[in-house]
Amino acid sequence: MLKLTPLLLLLAYGLVMYRFSVWRTKKELDEKSTELADRKLKELTDRMAKALDLDRIRVNIYEIAPVNGLAAPDGRIFITRGFFDQYRNGKVTAEEMASVIAHELGHVALGHSRRRMIDFSGQNAIRMTLGGILNRFLPGLGWAIASALTSLLAAKLSRQDEHEADAYASALLVKSGIGTGPQKSLFAKLEKLTGSGSGSQPAWLLSHPKTAERVAAIEAREARWLPND
Ligand SMILES: [Zn+2]
Repeated sequence: MLKLTPLLLLLAYGLVMYRFSVWRTKKELDEKSTELADRKLKELTDRMAKALDLDRIRVNIYEIAPVNGLAAPDGRIFITRGFFDQYRNGKVTAEEMASVIAHELGHVALGHSRRRMIDFSGQNAIRMTLGGILNRFLPGLGWAIASALTSLLAAKLSRQDEHEADAYASALLVKSGIGTGPQKSLFAKLEKLTGSGSGSQPAWLLSHPKTAERVAAIEAREARWLPND
């Protein structure tokens, strides 16, 4: 029993870390967001809502500079202020913004946003617990191995999620009559907008599949869906 105590302590610590992280994320989003109001975008989200048999799709602006879209575990969808600014100054079209919203809707519909919360918050818990166990057999090395394994697992999970959310978005965009064109053109722009060419790649992009890979996947789906003439 005594031998188990450190393990139980680690598990308890992991659980506390997880709860704290969920709470902190929700608080941050609540404090720094407002509903997005843009006539042209609303026209497009209304078309997607109709395709999904929903009254409307609510989108929020998250007041941070980095260009990103995100789906919260409670199902809310956010576009960052930095991204919205790119749309406002004409660098990104309304249809391209709609493709981001469709992608985030995909994360919500497929249950990723909940799981991802577990990814983010749970990563620490897994790292601590696994590290604690491994370190008993490999003193000093255990932590490093646990850390590497946890990161690998998280990256793999999120790449899978991205492809699934892209597929959902493609289907929704086609059904709403917007088409997959904006989805593909945005990927090309995203690399520039997020400055990934400059070597200062934001962390969220690191876990994302390569742009070319994502475009190729969309085109493979198109080939299956659309009649070829
Ligand atoms: Zn995504």
